[in-house]
Amino acid sequence: MALGVPRLVQAAGAPSVKAGKTGKTGKTQSRNAPVELLAVNSKETLQLRLRDDQGRPLRGVQKRFDVLMRCHHTKKQHAMNPRLVRMIYQVGKHYPGRRVEIVSGYRHPSVAKNPHSPHMQGLACDFRIAGVKNTELRDYLRAGFQKVGVGYYPNSAFVHLDVRKDRSAFWIDYSRPGERAIYSENALGDLKSGRAETYKPTKIDSKWALEPEEFGDDAKPAGDDGPTEAADPGNDPGGGSVPSGRTASAAAFGAPRPTAH
Ligand SMILES: [Zn+2]
Repeated sequence: MALGVPRLVQAAGAPSVKAGKTGKTGKTQSRNAPVELLAVNSKETLQLRLRDDQGRPLRGVQKRFDVLMRCHHTKKQHAMNPRLVRMIYQVGKHYPGRRVEIVSGYRHPSVAKNPHSPHMQGLACDFRIAGVKNTELRDYLRAGFQKVGVGYYPNSAFVHLDVRKDRSAFWIDYSRPGERAIYSENALGDLKSGRAETYKPTKIDSKWALEPEEFGDDAKPAGDDGPTEAADPGNDPGGGSVPSGRTASAAAFGAPRPTAH
């Protein structure tokens, strides 16, 4: 770059904001810029930001997030996991100027029929990014975050994200809104083959009608909307080594899905 340019850029930058320790005022400001969240059911919005222009943590963020993410069936609130708040913010920052549209956050036990749903514990969020394909969002979430569950719903309009303590999980659920889950038995294989984008089930395959007992009901507690058996995205970004786990085990969560899914 030409030597004279930085001075001009600085002069045109945000002069009213005090520079941080690094002196990169503009960067500090944009790093902490708000992300717009919209709760699609309540139509409420939140300008989510975690820190002010000087990088100081803002108060009340968690509370406002909890309100926005409340159960849209029962209006009940629940403390959302702080790491989920940070991840949603980070995702929003990854798509500057685009709104994060929340389809479902907290789900009250009376509507979360899956007793293991992380939505019920404030650990999960179903969302999309306005103007961004869910395939792209899915891939970004899988590559960009560790110890998360990512659920892809090619026949619905959101991607599921939850926080986990151990390893990551990925699954595909081919159900349409309001339908019972139709999990892919081989989520990574379906990504690779392209089936994930083309398979449109018209009815539930008989093999998914197995009683929960057939799979045992000891599935890992974090498995909400989907299987917990999946590859760690960090180890398998391209879907090359397909896990041998029984991804179908999540069919054990046989209860009809809440209408949000
Ligand atoms: Zn979900």
